[in-house]
Amino acid sequence: MLRIAIQKSGRLQEESLKLLKESGLAFSNGKEQLKTQATNFPVELLFLRDDDIPQYIEDQVADAGIVGENVMLEKQKKNEVIKRLDFAKCRLSIAIPRSETYGGISSLAGKNIATSYPTIVKQFLSKHNIEAGIHEISGSVEIAPGIGLADAICDIVSTGSTLLSNGLKEVEVVMKSEAVLIATPDLEAEKKKILNKLLFRIQSVQSAKNNKYILLNCPNEAIEKITNVIPGMKSPTIMPLERKGWSSLHSVVNENDFWEKIDQLKSFGAEGILVIPIEKMIA
Ligand code: ATP
Ligand code: ZN
Repeated sequence: MLRIAIQKSGRLQEESLKLLKESGLAFSNGKEQLKTQATNFPVELLFLRDDDIPQYIEDQVADAGIVGENVMLEKQKKNEVIKRLDFAKCRLSIAIPRSETYGGISSLAGKNIATSYPTIVKQFLSKHNIEAGIHEISGSVEIAPGIGLADAICDIVSTGSTLLSNGLKEVEVVMKSEAVLIATPDLEAEKKKILNKLLFRIQSVQSAKNNKYILLNCPNEAIEKITNVIPGMKSPTIMPLERKGWSSLHSVVNENDFWEKIDQLKSFGAEGILVIPIEKMIA
């Protein structure tokens, strides 16, 4: 049985559960419990505060967990990153009152910075040879300058609207973060096996999200050129159309350069292009 800790409530909770469910794990009872067991996979979920998860993993009360990279880095526990999960994307940034002009990173010297991430901020400042005060607070960091508690803050930013409404502006990005699957480096063999099995499924879910199934009609003389653009997993499937000299071509196309590829395909004479989501993708 592999014990995985996820956030009890907050920004990571829903996506963490969704990922596990998309990976085929079913849970009979909800998150009201402290823990729940998957009904079809040897996994037990623990619902915890995200800040506590790295410690629980170090203590091996949990074997693995899902947290923001920012939390993992701040806590400096015995954890290793197994997989970046591509959600809860944000950055940890330094912000100062909007009314002040920013004279570059050296102007932070001697300032007082309020943050919930003292370790990360300390590392950032010392990397840039800057001495500044760090004022650790656990929440509502963005109001600190307004009430005279600090000159600057370092906090999570996604759109910047919270900063704006508190009269602050972002001046330095300290780190970028996303949700990560972490685990103790000392997993016993049996648990490692379960984790690898889960990891394989997570990878299948992720590649499916990044790819689409594509069907199109094309003149036979364009097949080669089109195959070069969308080679698919091994090679495209090609079926003759009733109409002479034409084929139907099925393949897989990556999300990243999707529109450029579509333009190319059209220029080669592709018609009737259908693009369909893929649920799982196993290479
Ligand atoms: P807890 O009560 O469990 O301690 P919390 O208040 O510390 O929760 P949340 O606000 O739920 O944490 O954020 C959890 C994680 O989600 C953060 O550590 C960060 O990695 C990420 N995150 C935070 N804010 C955002 C945002 N605005 N956009 C995207 N990701 C975010
Ligand atoms: Zn937290």
